[in-house]
Amino acid sequence: MKFIQFLLNLFRPQEQRVDGPAALEQPTAAVPEEPTAAVPEERKPRVEIATGRAFRDLPLHPEVLRGIEATGFERCTEVQDKALPITLDGQGIAAQAQTGSGKTAVFLISIFEKALRARDRGESFGKALILAPTRELALQIYRDAEALGRDCGLRYAVILGGVAYEQQIEALKADADVVIATPGRLIDLMKQQLFDPRQVTILVVDEADRMLDMGFIRDLRYIFRRLRHYDQRQSLLFSATLSARVLELTYEYMNISEEISVNRKDLLVETVEQCVHHVGANEKLRLLLGLLHRESWERVLIFTNTKAEAMRVAQVLAGNDYSSNAITGDLPQKQRISTLSRFMSGQVPILVATDVASRGLHVDDVSHVINYDVPQDREEYVHRIGRTARAGKTGKAITLATERDVHNLAPIEELLGLKIPVVWPEEDWFMTDRSRGGRQGTERPGVPQRRRRPPTGGRTAEAAAGPKAAEAKSARAKPRAEGRGRRPSRRRGRGAGPRQAESGS
Ligand code: AMP
Repeated sequence: MKFIQFLLNLFRPQEQRVDGPAALEQPTAAVPEEPTAAVPEERKPRVEIATGRAFRDLPLHPEVLRGIEATGFERCTEVQDKALPITLDGQGIAAQAQTGSGKTAVFLISIFEKALRARDRGESFGKALILAPTRELALQIYRDAEALGRDCGLRYAVILGGVAYEQQIEALKADADVVIATPGRLIDLMKQQLFDPRQVTILVVDEADRMLDMGFIRDLRYIFRRLRHYDQRQSLLFSATLSARVLELTYEYMNISEEISVNRKDLLVETVEQCVHHVGANEKLRLLLGLLHRESWERVLIFTNTKAEAMRVAQVLAGNDYSSNAITGDLPQKQRISTLSRFMSGQVPILVATDVASRGLHVDDVSHVINYDVPQDREEYVHRIGRTARAGKTGKAITLATERDVHNLAPIEELLGLKIPVVWPEEDWFMTDRSRGGRQGTERPGVPQRRRRPPTGGRTAEAAAGPKAAEAKSARAKPRAEGRGRRPSRRRGRGAGPRQAESGS
């Protein structure tokens, strides 16, 4: 078993490696040797982001407050301001907050308070479990905890893969109050009965989307299923994006009272010129060909919602003499990397990708992102268009919306806080698809083609978008004016919903 794990480890990136014989050979300490060493530059207080209420106005124990003040924090950052009143009340949150927002202090202060309040009542606190995707992050959390919680008298265990077991086992046996862990090693220790997950009264999942990107979903589920029921513990989840797959986790395994989001600096995509073209689904390919013909692009990333569509688009592009590759989740990792390097080197200037395939891969610095399909998940839109306009360059993000996916636009615009300008394609923007041997019309291949009428009974995106969209059409590039679809609320009350009731976690 250990040998298989060892072999598997060789194929994993360093930060994802789980424990094995190789790990045992490394004499590294489980926690930093100098936990109280000088605060590194990147962890220094940032007063410019701390504009919320004063910490002394929060119901905090003097021990907790002393640690906060000694760290140099006076006022809350936005995420602290929004989250702490809820978490200090014992409730669960899912917070969209990135590194740099002050999220670490939210969960650490919540843990400290919970522990001290239990102590005041003469009750056992149980344990706090903080899950982090990488060793580096886990160690950073530990250092922050040492600094912020210096007067709270809590004991820590830092459980990481790739380092010696002894010290970690000792820390667990010494009944650590706060366990900061990467998933792999924690599972290993759980299997050896060295960590009892049922003692966890407060669960923190940090950088949840990164954990999912790194393939930790099964590990997380393994751990979550063994915790006590979500009604008997507090759950705090932090993630750079609250995407559907992250929220799915919270629905299943956490009792979340509030979803919190803070001002998204990554949404300030001012250098990206965004537009939507409304088009009938049956005309979309020809519009794509027309856009590739009209736009002056260097490198184009085309996103589709499905693998099948990615393959189809790549095939059509090849049939029209465009050098392109498709990258889907089916492609082995090695091939994905070589496809990507051909794209990045400019050898193949068009890449057709699904979101899953492009996730975790560094594809950026492209001149054009074309959303061949409107993403179903609004966070994906931000990820997609973030691939362009890097490093001060300008970029263009074009979205093709048809009657099948136009409803996905409203939630995206809600997230962005803006209307994506609509540009109505002119008739001569539609090109013949030569891969089909010019079967679609009598025009000469490669020349602009007249726009076709939608088949009888079919609806164009314009029709689907309602009469106001037609008004917008007359105004050409004016912002789209059709009504917004309401995003189904993902908030959950404290009671279990159907999924939660089913999960029995
Ligand atoms: P984090 O998002 O937890 O990684 O924290 C980012 C940075 O913000 C760290 O350098 C913290 O020291 C700093 N920070 C967090 N909370 C505050 C606060 N309330 N006041 C000033 N700086 C803070």
